[in-house]
Amino acid sequence: ARARGNNPLSFDKSAELIERNAQWMAGGVNSNFRLNISPTPLVFERGEGPWLYDADGNKLIDYYLGMGPMILGHKPQALVDAVKQEIEKGFLFAGQTTVEAEAARLVCELVPSAERMRFGCSGSEVDQAAIRLARAATGRKKIIKFEGHYHGWFDNVLWSTAPALNAAGPENAPVPVAGSKGQLTETADALVVLPWNNLDLVVERLAQGDIAGVIMEAAMCNAGAVHPAPGYLEGVREACTRYGTILIFDEVITGFRLAPGGAQERFGVTPDLSTFGKAIANGFPVAAIVGRADLMEMFATGGVVHGGTYNAQPIAMAATVATLMSLKPSLYATLEERGGRLMRGMGEIFARAGVLAQVAGFPQVFHVALGLDVPARNYRDLARMDRPAYVALTTALLHRGVRALERGAWFLSIEHSDAVIDDTLLAVEDSVRELK
Ligand code: PLP
Repeated sequence: ARARGNNPLSFDKSAELIERNAQWMAGGVNSNFRLNISPTPLVFERGEGPWLYDADGNKLIDYYLGMGPMILGHKPQALVDAVKQEIEKGFLFAGQTTVEAEAARLVCELVPSAERMRFGCSGSEVDQAAIRLARAATGRKKIIKFEGHYHGWFDNVLWSTAPALNAAGPENAPVPVAGSKGQLTETADALVVLPWNNLDLVVERLAQGDIAGVIMEAAMCNAGAVHPAPGYLEGVREACTRYGTILIFDEVITGFRLAPGGAQERFGVTPDLSTFGKAIANGFPVAAIVGRADLMEMFATGGVVHGGTYNAQPIAMAATVATLMSLKPSLYATLEERGGRLMRGMGEIFARAGVLAQVAGFPQVFHVALGLDVPARNYRDLARMDRPAYVALTTALLHRGVRALERGAWFLSIEHSDAVIDDTLLAVEDSVRELK
């Protein structure tokens, strides 16, 4: 590992291609979240298991995993086989298929709150469907969302997802901060932004009786990986029931990752509606909204519209079935064991090097926050991490063949073997030494 440290990987070819491709694609990328990566956004040739192979010929251990989806690793054989078989039958019928019904049955079987479900193509759009249902069911307008929680890139929810602290107002009364120029600012009037993990504040606000829905990542994962405080989810659940508010869990990251039935299974709290994406199809564009039958039936008979040309596209549905069939309890036990070892190993390396750091969250998705002396409880805590130092760390890691998100989250797949974790820990040790 030390030898590699002296001869770090180069990403010149990626940088060159990004510059060339920028004449066709804005910024050379197709999502803003792939911009501004140090030392350059990367161009990939292929992925296999825990590894990505990039345009410079580097083999990288991947902890992005497509921003979370690849719980089975890159290109699992079960999906390759299922997709090859399905593709022979045609691509899109604007009608129903056997494979989508099988995928729906599996979702309803795995997710505790799923009495009914509908498929979509992205987390952003199923979150919109959930918010629309909450408003239709209650006849109310306002939605509570939490600072640092991400529910997609649309106008009405891209508020206070990663606000600068000097613009965000007091911790207990945050000011909504727009995430994009061009956003319809009036959409903030229908939102109440609160700090997450503070039960009293949410109960107090719900008691006013005008809230249609509460939407939250049941464990905060997009901006880091933070556990709900003991009793928090139960308390919000009870208050939502008491005040006639729809509780929505955004399980786009936690779904099929923290447990087969997501955060709601892991924490034993049942939302009225919840949304899924990412790990539901291990890399295919599939999302789902699930929940109480009386609410979901409003799509069929209650005048609430949900549509999409590509919803339940059969090839993506074959990938969904193959993924969900692979999610055995033993897979989660293995992820917990290996992820736990990686978290502990990293914690020990930081401690030995005298680097202040928190390695926290879940073995399947955790975060590393440099400069924090206690675990984060919410966005304000995470925002205090030493970001320049962390970007220096992920950059050093990348030059040693380990690709981790600059935001701080690490995703694990079942293909991250003990040997891969050993290689990762060597790279972390080497990178920390370089930064000292
Ligand atoms: N909700 C959460 C918690 C997410 O992390 C994301 C994406 O990262 C979304 C919603 C939006 O999903 P998509 O990017 O598929 O639109």
